[in-house]
Amino acid sequence: MKKIAALLLSSSLFLTMLPATALAQEAKPNVTRAEVVEFLLNAADDYNPGIKKEDILKGYSKGDAKEDQEVSRIEVLIMLSRAFSNLPAPKGNDLRVANTSASFTDVPKWAQDEISKLIASGVLTDYPDGKLGVSDHITKEQLLTLTKRVMALEGSNPRDDYYEYVNKKWLNDSKIPAGEMSNGVFNELAKANEDRTKAIIDELVKKQNPAGSKEQKIADFYKSVLDMESRNKQGIKPIAPYLADLDKASSVKELFDTSMKMENEISKGGLLSFAVMGDAKDSNVNALYFSGLGTRLDKNSYVSGDEKTKKVYTNYLTQLFVLSGTDEIAAKAQAEDVYAFEKELAASSMDLQDQGKVENYYNPYTKDKFITLFKSIDMSKYMKELQVDKADKVIVTDVGLLNKSAEVLNEKNLDKIKSYAKATLLMNAGGTLSGDFLKLATEFEAQLFGIEGEKTNEEMAVMTTQTVMSQYLSQEFAEKYFTKEAKQDVEQMVKQFIEVYKERIKALDWMSEATKAKAIKKLDKMTIKIGYPDQWNDYLKDASIKTFADGGSLFDNIVVINKALKKQAFASLGKPVDKSSWMMSTYEVNAYYNPLNNEIVFPAGILQAPFYDIKAKRETNLGAIGMVIAHEISHAFDNLGSAYDENGNAVNWWTPEDFKKFQEKCDQVISYYDHVEVLPGVYNNGKLTVSENIADLGGMAASLQVLSKMENPDFKGYFEGYATIWRMTMSKETVAYLSTVDTHSANKVRVNRTVSNFPEFYKAYQVNEKDAMYVAPKDRVSIW
Ligand SMILES: [Zn+2]
Repeated sequence: MKKIAALLLSSSLFLTMLPATALAQEAKPNVTRAEVVEFLLNAADDYNPGIKKEDILKGYSKGDAKEDQEVSRIEVLIMLSRAFSNLPAPKGNDLRVANTSASFTDVPKWAQDEISKLIASGVLTDYPDGKLGVSDHITKEQLLTLTKRVMALEGSNPRDDYYEYVNKKWLNDSKIPAGEMSNGVFNELAKANEDRTKAIIDELVKKQNPAGSKEQKIADFYKSVLDMESRNKQGIKPIAPYLADLDKASSVKELFDTSMKMENEISKGGLLSFAVMGDAKDSNVNALYFSGLGTRLDKNSYVSGDEKTKKVYTNYLTQLFVLSGTDEIAAKAQAEDVYAFEKELAASSMDLQDQGKVENYYNPYTKDKFITLFKSIDMSKYMKELQVDKADKVIVTDVGLLNKSAEVLNEKNLDKIKSYAKATLLMNAGGTLSGDFLKLATEFEAQLFGIEGEKTNEEMAVMTTQTVMSQYLSQEFAEKYFTKEAKQDVEQMVKQFIEVYKERIKALDWMSEATKAKAIKKLDKMTIKIGYPDQWNDYLKDASIKTFADGGSLFDNIVVINKALKKQAFASLGKPVDKSSWMMSTYEVNAYYNPLNNEIVFPAGILQAPFYDIKAKRETNLGAIGMVIAHEISHAFDNLGSAYDENGNAVNWWTPEDFKKFQEKCDQVISYYDHVEVLPGVYNNGKLTVSENIADLGGMAASLQVLSKMENPDFKGYFEGYATIWRMTMSKETVAYLSTVDTHSANKVRVNRTVSNFPEFYKAYQVNEKDAMYVAPKDRVSIW
């Protein structure tokens, strides 16, 4: 599940591509012919019973096979193809990620048939230079990688690829809905919840709702989203004056004055990103945070030299500028300027994997010091206008980005900043304007993520209403679809898990009694939130939401809502943190741990089948919701959450020796999950995903402990329940993108690596050294 680190200021969700390198290039010893034969005979045995050495070494006269020689890449591939024989044709998800039209310019005639077979099965992908590297040698690790691709394709053996084994049929049949990035249990449930919220909305739309009531606001907001005819008629009008003013600015100061005017009048497109949330070192009080100038793409997309993403993004920007009335040539130049400007910012920003650490994001500046950093703009005035000047300090979340932001705001860059400010406004407001803007944004995402088809207007309108009216809709949803009984039942389960966690901590062999006592205190004080908030936040009480027919517009509705949100946030500055608030809607299929409140939160949206099913076997529930609960508890003790105490303050509660041991364990988790191939050419990043992997390992250890106390527990049922929850299919582009920005391991890795860490899995499926899922006990990790 997602963990809300203290940072809520993360960059937007957009794509980058990895080079399509099919095999890792590492300086490791190459394999000999005899080693390949032995390896393949063992690996292929379950798939091609009775396979013999002679079948693999066809073509060599007896005694002349030169078995101690290093073997060439092409030979290995042919031996692999012979060993497994008749590879299945890729279907569904396999076909989606396979490149079955790959071709190589250097394959000799005699090898073409076998190589074509491997390409058709998707096991062999293309190389960037179009060459296979026929005479190169390969390492043992590369041989294993290739073999695992075959095993994944077969998907018939739990001991070689557990995820594929459990989910193969579903993966083959799964279709990604039009306009979606992926399909899986999470998507199916999200869709079911969407249908339910739609039913609520439809009901309200039919009724005569009292003016100013929640019901009227939900219904009229939805109508304003759906009214494409009026939106198209309105076009770009609501933001045109601001675009013109930005264009006219003759200095950076003037440009920021306009930006501030926009902030005040339409609450959109402003360039200064202040946020209010609990002070990480005094989490009862709200503090002011600042992150610097934002970028549309993630850091890696700019700095990796990813030309495809650059092209897609600058095309999108060009078309946005054209739509706003700029001629094509100027639009192109402005788009290039925006990209270059953002690239400079991104290059100075913190790497994603470092952002969650409190020592990295917590940089308090006095207000005066912060203000004097900005030479070209009147920061003091802007802070006053935003009503955040009552803060005595500003917590800067990314010092590199802050300094770069202050530096690039100079007169020399005026034209670039203009383009950047206009682009920000166009992207920000576009979704609330005419269909042209929506179309551009949809195409942009589709190209980056390999999305096919489009959502209907109604689907988009429901999603927008879910996001924007989440407080009101959440309440309606919880009242209709979540019972007090379910709330109590899940609460009991969570409490049991906390008790199990305490037992586990007491039994740890690597931690001193002093640190254990602190960890247990943290568990004792953990807040549990189930289903829905106890209090509903009515920040839209005074907001007037109108349809076009009543003289309103979607744009105006969003303005009113944004203003109300910001007013509430900035007014809470310096005041006590509202500990009852939620960061997710009740219909979200997700859960989180918030370190600043030391709380675990499970929205109603995830507390249903197949995560939590009263009719299911207890083992299956333990593998699903049990694992989710224990995962979230574990976040209190992952590499980031462990920096906060029982009250949610960033205070070190560890003895130095214990902390050192913990760090070593975190490093082990990093290497355990690192460089695992997700699909040909895409690898899991151990550093980026370490906190989530710790949570998965802790979650599985705790839920297995609950399971082991049952009479005759069905371990297979437990592991299957777990693997089923994580089945997912997505485009190759999306998989590649997520591997660079998602702090969660790829679903397949979450399943295969996590189960491989536990003796219960080896016992349940009789996994041994010969199997691909096998990990030697010395390489497994024990942490929580
Ligand atoms: Zn998580």
